[in-house]
Parts: sequence; structure tokens; C-alpha cells
Amino acid sequence: MQPPLPVSPVWQRPASPIACRFAESDVDLVVVGAGYQGLSTALHAARAGLSVQIIEAGDIGAGASGVNGGQVIPGLKQDPETLISLFGEDAGKRLLRFASKTADVVYDLIAREELDVEHVRSGWIQAAHTEAALQAAGQRNRQWRAQGADVALLNQAEIALLTGAEGYRGGFLDRRAGVVNPLAFVHELARIATEAGANLVTHDAVTSLSRDGTSWRVGTQSGRSLRAKKVLVATNAYSDRILPDLARSLVWLHSFQIATEPLPAGFDFILPSGQAVSDSRRILVYYRRSPDGRLVLGGRGPMRPPRSAEDWAHLERALQRLYPMLSGIAITHRWFGRVAMTPDHLPHLHEPEPGLLMVAGCQGRGIGLMVSLGDPLAQYLAHGDPGVLPLPISPLRGIPLHRFRRIGVAAHVAWYRLLDGLER
Ligand SMILES: Cc1cc2nc3c(=O)[nH]c(=O)nc-3n(C[C@H](O)[C@H](O)[C@H](O)COP(=O)(O)OP(=O)(O)OC[C@H]3O[C@@H](n4cnc5c(N)ncnc54)[C@H](O)[C@@H]3O)c2cc1C
Repeated sequence: MQPPLPVSPVWQRPASPIACRFAESDVDLVVVGAGYQGLSTALHAARAGLSVQIIEAGDIGAGASGVNGGQVIPGLKQDPETLISLFGEDAGKRLLRFASKTADVVYDLIAREELDVEHVRSGWIQAAHTEAALQAAGQRNRQWRAQGADVALLNQAEIALLTGAEGYRGGFLDRRAGVVNPLAFVHELARIATEAGANLVTHDAVTSLSRDGTSWRVGTQSGRSLRAKKVLVATNAYSDRILPDLARSLVWLHSFQIATEPLPAGFDFILPSGQAVSDSRRILVYYRRSPDGRLVLGGRGPMRPPRSAEDWAHLERALQRLYPMLSGIAITHRWFGRVAMTPDHLPHLHEPEPGLLMVAGCQGRGIGLMVSLGDPLAQYLAHGDPGVLPLPISPLRGIPLHRFRRIGVAAHVAWYRLLDGLER
């Protein structure tokens, strides 16, 4: 058994300083949480002329935004035809148009604002490990091609060349996608949001939210207090403190990741063009190269916090299965974070009271989604026209038997792992 290691992500942040300050008087908007959702909305709201205060319980990107896999994948979990059948022709097509452009929004922002974020845009591969998964990839490819997306179906030889991995039958390549350094990205978003005029404080959790006439009174752990016309609760999978109803509307899972040491010369056949990969297993793994040449791989972890390096052992086994030639390569980093899931696998937008807004449930695909939502959310907060929103505002409902979620998730994971094992 390996000794426990410090738990720390492999991602580095840029050195650019970010000025923290607290508003001296009432503001138009308080944003709770400095992840992609909160910061992108704050950026657009400040540029639209609103006075904004962002309040973050930890450091910038302390939630999922600073620790994720950095795979920027357009679309939602559901394929185009499913989205249209779920939402109807008009709303479904509007959501689809929005979702298909989320990677464009990220890469355009990085280029336009000259963000100091390492990135590669050479696509995302959904790798099929069975014939059934390859057929599903073919369906996905057909549906996105019908939307004019730059996608392709890969055969066995093509996917072997692009991944250097063993055991895939083929896969779906989405060339709109890519990878970023996720921690650098969230820091750079904080920098431009504050430069646009938004106030930001970190290491101070919001502990109370109450009505104050037509406004909101926001109180923090350190005793700060502020009045705001509107509040965005951008706490997503980390929503346990202020709005119990929001926390009960989600199930969060742990996603664990490992990174190898930088791969030495001779391993250039592993993701030579820098694509991101997710495989097609029920309990999937996802992987990519890091800017300094490591292999970074993630997947589902235990529902409890990790106790030792053993809690990442299943990811090391997956790495060995895909790349047996990496057996002598050291694992240097292990870390984890929370992913918010909803029962219908769609992101949810709620406004349980006028002027109190929240979006949650990215199903592990929140980089493009949350960054892209910032602009419409800010427009809605500024002008109140729901027509600008790509998602309908839905009632905030708790999941029945929410307190038994851990048992339910653990049982599902065990069952899915068994089925995945049978398909090997
Ligand atoms: C390990 C992992 C890998 C992932 N990989 C990918 C990927 O490759 N691609 C992808 O698209 N998505 C991925 N995701 C999902 C993606 O990271 C999230 O969807 C996205 O970061 C959500 O952004 P957010 O701003 O909504 O929430 P978060 O980034 O989680 O931000 C919420 C913030 O709220 C703060 N907060 C909570 N309570 C309070 C309070 N009371 N007061 C003040 N602040 C508070 C938290 O500290 C946190 O910083 C991954 C997630 C994880 C955990």
C-alpha cells in the first residue's frame, strides 16, 4: 500500500495579482461563490453597469472551478434530438444553439481578453469500448453533423493513433472542444471581473440571506453585512451552507483525479495532438495531457473524503489498462472535487424569490456552460427579461429521500462497475 500523499491539484495559477475589496455601500448585485459561474456573471454585470460584490468562502476557484479536468466540451449531456424532444421545438432549439457554442465562448474570451491560460483546442474524443458504445457514438455524430457541428466518427485505427491507448473500437471526435488550465482560467476570470469594477472578497462565507424590503441583506461569517438589489447564489455542488433547498435539489458526487510526472521522451504517441478524452464506460474515466506534459486522469471516487492514496487506486488501474507502458511512471498528484448532478441530468436555473437567482447541476461539464451563462444571467439580472435566458427558470424542488442519497449513489456505482467489468 502506498503512503498517503498531500492532496493537491496539478494546476498552476498565473502570478497576476487580484485586488480584494468590499463595497462601502449598497450594491446592485451580490454574487456568492467565485467559480466560473459567479465570476463570469460578475464580469458581464459589471460591464453592463451594475455595482457588484463577489463573496467567496475560500480562495478563488476553491470549488470545482479550480480543480476540474479542464476539458472544454460543448453541448449538454443529452444529444440534440433529446434536447428538442424534452424542451419542444422553440425552447429546445434555443438551448441547443446556446449549448453548441459554449466552447467558442471560452476560447473567444481567452483570445479577446488575452488571458494567461494555457490551452489547446484540438477536440474531445468520446472513446467507445464496446460495439454498442460505438453505435451510440455514430448516433451522436449524425445528430451533431445535422446541426452543422465540426464532428467526426473515428474508426479503430484512427482512435488508436489519436490516443495511443489500448482497447477502443472507435469513437466520436468533437473538434469544437479543447483543454484549458482550469485554475489559471478561474483566476484570470477573477482578474478581469475585478478590473471591470466588481468587488471581490475571499475567505469569508456568506452565512445569511434575508429579505430587506425589496432588496436582500447578505451577512458573512466575519460579520460583514451588505444590502443588494439582487443575489446570484453561484455555489453549485458546494451549496451546503445558506440555502438548504438548493442543496436538497442536487446530488453531488466526488470526482477524483491523478497526474503522472511529466512523461519523458518516447511517450509522444500518447495524445500527440492534445485532445481531451472521456471513455464510454458507465463509470467513465477522462484524461488529457497537462501543459507540462503529464497525463492527467480522473473518474468517480468514494462519496466520503479520501483517507489515503488507496482511494485513487482505481484510477491508477485504469491508467495501467489504457497505457500499460506507463507502469514505471510516478503518480505525483492526487486530488478531488464535487460534481453536481440533477435527476434529469440537466442544469437547473431557479429564482425561488424575485431577485434571488441560482444555477446548479453541470453533470461534470460546467466550464463552457457556466462561463457562457454569465452573459445571459447578467443581462437578466440587469434588465429582467427572461427571454435572454437559454434555460427555463424552474421551481426549486428537493429530491425525495435526499438524505439517503449516499447509499443510493454507492449502490448505483457498485452496480455500474460490475456491468463495466463484464464488458471488458
Ligand atoms: C474533479 C472535477 C473534474 C471536473 N472536470 C470537468 C471538465 O473536465 N470539464 C468540465 O466542463 N467540467 C468539469 N467539472 C465540472 C466543473 O468544474 C463545474 O461544473 C464548474 O466548475 C462549476 O462552476 P461553478 O462556478 O458553478 O461552481 P464552483 O466552481 O464549484 O464554485 C462554487 C463556489 O462557491 C463557494 N461557496 C460555497 N458556499 C459559499 C458560501 N456560503 N459563501 C461564499 N462562497 C461559497 C465555493 O467555495 C466555491 O468556490 C469537473 C468537476 C470536478 C470536481
